[in-house]
Amino acid sequence: MLIDGKSSKIPLNAQTIVTHAHSDHYAFMYSNPRTRATQETIDLFFCQKKPAGPITFLPTQFNEEIVFDPEIPDLDVRLVSSGHVLGSASVSINYNDKVILFTSDIGGRGQLTIKEPITKIDADILVIEATFGSPELVFPSREEISMEILKWSADVIKEKRNVVFSAGKLGSAQELIKMFNNLTNLRVVTHGDVTPVSDVYQKHGIQLEYFDSKSEEGREILRDGEAIIIQPREKKIVPYFIKEHINYRSAIVTGMASRFIYKDYDAAFPLSSHANYPELIEYIKEVSPELIFTMYGLEEKLAKAITNELEIPAIPLRKKEEESQQKTPKKPKIQKQIEKKIPITTIENKLLNKDAKKKTTLDDYFTD
Ligand SMILES: [Zn+2]
Repeated sequence: MLIDGKSSKIPLNAQTIVTHAHSDHYAFMYSNPRTRATQETIDLFFCQKKPAGPITFLPTQFNEEIVFDPEIPDLDVRLVSSGHVLGSASVSINYNDKVILFTSDIGGRGQLTIKEPITKIDADILVIEATFGSPELVFPSREEISMEILKWSADVIKEKRNVVFSAGKLGSAQELIKMFNNLTNLRVVTHGDVTPVSDVYQKHGIQLEYFDSKSEEGREILRDGEAIIIQPREKKIVPYFIKEHINYRSAIVTGMASRFIYKDYDAAFPLSSHANYPELIEYIKEVSPELIFTMYGLEEKLAKAITNELEIPAIPLRKKEEESQQKTPKKPKIQKQIEKKIPITTIENKLLNKDAKKKTTLDDYFTD
């Protein structure tokens, strides 16, 4: 069984699972005809990818028993909600009364576009993500971040400018749309890569109101000005519609804004689809495992913090893999950047001091 694997050497008869539709989780796996995923993940995959050949997924619901091998009747594998993005799943594997829980990416509190709340189940072994797995990575509350975003946007609109947000096209973009829909009368215009993903959210019952930038209404709103424009973070070149309407200010939305300065933007907000450090610790306490493996991101820091704070043995999965291959362990790219030890500042301080602190940025790193 392979979960979110990236190996190109997957045997044809392998049973595979894709936990959610962020591209770093479905790499190489979609060519396997027995890949399981939730219907939401499947729809989100196809709206982002136009595969050359036929691809068959097996749609799987949360908590549906997955039969992998009839000759192993004691093996019970299920997807449970991970609360990260639409349709995202963790995987619970129960065999001989021992439970392994593979979290994949998990969400934090207060997200507006999550249909099913995060499911935490008791497990003996926990494999947990470590994207924000370092004790200093603490976000302000969702409400505080929302207020900062709205306040900053209102100031920009008062100057008769458009507001441009660069956000993860799956997850943060829909959170922004929902936030502006719920709390303001401002019209939201979406980039052509954000629109189809948002359409899938709509299809699955998350109500969002937005206008595609190339639609007639979208173009009209852009001509009028004073709009909220949402584009994918990876688009470093400002799209044509912004070039035509240069009167704007831009902000980036990423959890890393809790720690880094982004010199290419007028503002940065730590809104994320991932749990931050205190939420990871809270999750672990509820699952109460005997042994933990950490992966994705700051696995070494999180493993150390878990061992210190919770006194549960924790091992970075990457380190374990590398040891077994007798290779020198390499530090992940993100960890090197984190170790620059930029002091955490409030959003206001960062904005006020932006010019003075332009040295360190994370322009090349965007996490989904
Ligand atoms: Zn993800």
